[in-house]
Amino acid sequence: MSYDTFLGAYSTGPDCYERIGDITGAYGRKAVIIGGKTALSKAEPEIRKCASASGIEITGTLWYGGDATYSNAKRLEESPEVQSADMVFAVGGGRAVDTCKVVSDNAKKPLFTFPTLASNCAAVTAIAVIYKDDGSLEGYFYPERCPVHSFINTKVIADSPRDMFWAGIGDALSKEYEVLLASRGEKLTHTPLMGAALSRSCTEPLIDCGAEALRQCERGEAGAELQEVVLDIIISTGIVSNMTNKYGEYYYNSSLAHAFYNGSTVIDAARRHLHGEIVSFGVLVLLTYDGQIEERDRIIRFNKSIGLPVTLAEMDIRDEDLKAIADKAETVLEWEKVPYKMSKERFIEVIRETSRAGEAMDMEKEAV
Ligand SMILES: [Zn+2]
Repeated sequence: MSYDTFLGAYSTGPDCYERIGDITGAYGRKAVIIGGKTALSKAEPEIRKCASASGIEITGTLWYGGDATYSNAKRLEESPEVQSADMVFAVGGGRAVDTCKVVSDNAKKPLFTFPTLASNCAAVTAIAVIYKDDGSLEGYFYPERCPVHSFINTKVIADSPRDMFWAGIGDALSKEYEVLLASRGEKLTHTPLMGAALSRSCTEPLIDCGAEALRQCERGEAGAELQEVVLDIIISTGIVSNMTNKYGEYYYNSSLAHAFYNGSTVIDAARRHLHGEIVSFGVLVLLTYDGQIEERDRIIRFNKSIGLPVTLAEMDIRDEDLKAIADKAETVLEWEKVPYKMSKERFIEVIRETSRAGEAMDMEKEAV
């Protein structure tokens, strides 16, 4: 069987933009910068400075359009700045980078990413989440390959909103548990087998360094713990995603934590919470459903230590919402990514049980 695997290469550290010339130079001499407005205000001057120092010409800087849509991608593809460039530099969070995946894939120009937030792994993955012009979900776009290289400047990310980083920790927390549950009992071929092994490196750095990394982010400091957690959120989870998910062949990339998240999207009050915040509670649901109670309690303690939710009330979800959540959850792909047959009744009961365990941990703390 013949196939390609692309993983995701990266440079990191406060001075990593100095590597732009050496690394992108092999792919061309002209680049277009595309990004979000805030992201560009933080990263563009330094990218331009380092690019020009190494003889890379910037054909122009374009705003990506505010949402990851095919119409924004088309407008960008048709611009002279993109057409005259050899390569695309995507600057920003998930949506800007995802838009650029469509642009670079259609225009057949190599993509380099400059994440300015550590809230997801979009900077290194070969998948883009695309929205319709009205803001509703259009679906996934699968580019030919993942971005060629990612420049993860910890100084820029230390300057990003603390809550986005916090929610990024909650989302990354799902990777190891979801991949191991989704792939359990499966005969894995080489690439997903490696991906499942790598997923085991996703949880511990979050637990060891998460609280200190958040404090560093609050102070705008590119410290060692912040770097560990940023690389966990962007690189570890991103490479695992590239190795555990091949369109049309296999999907071990997510499971019950995201089934819970997807279910929660039908509840208005829950939608006001960040994706990773809800997912971190979904991790507790997964562990409870799977009977990993000791590990569940360890993660409850971690979530509490950095203010991620451990009860339904913290996500503004009421007991009467659980049926609607389960009705939606059972319709999504992640619902079936378990090694057993799911029961909707048990799922609802497990959510209640998880929240009760979170409340009980509250009382324990108060009793101390
Ligand atoms: Zn997620």
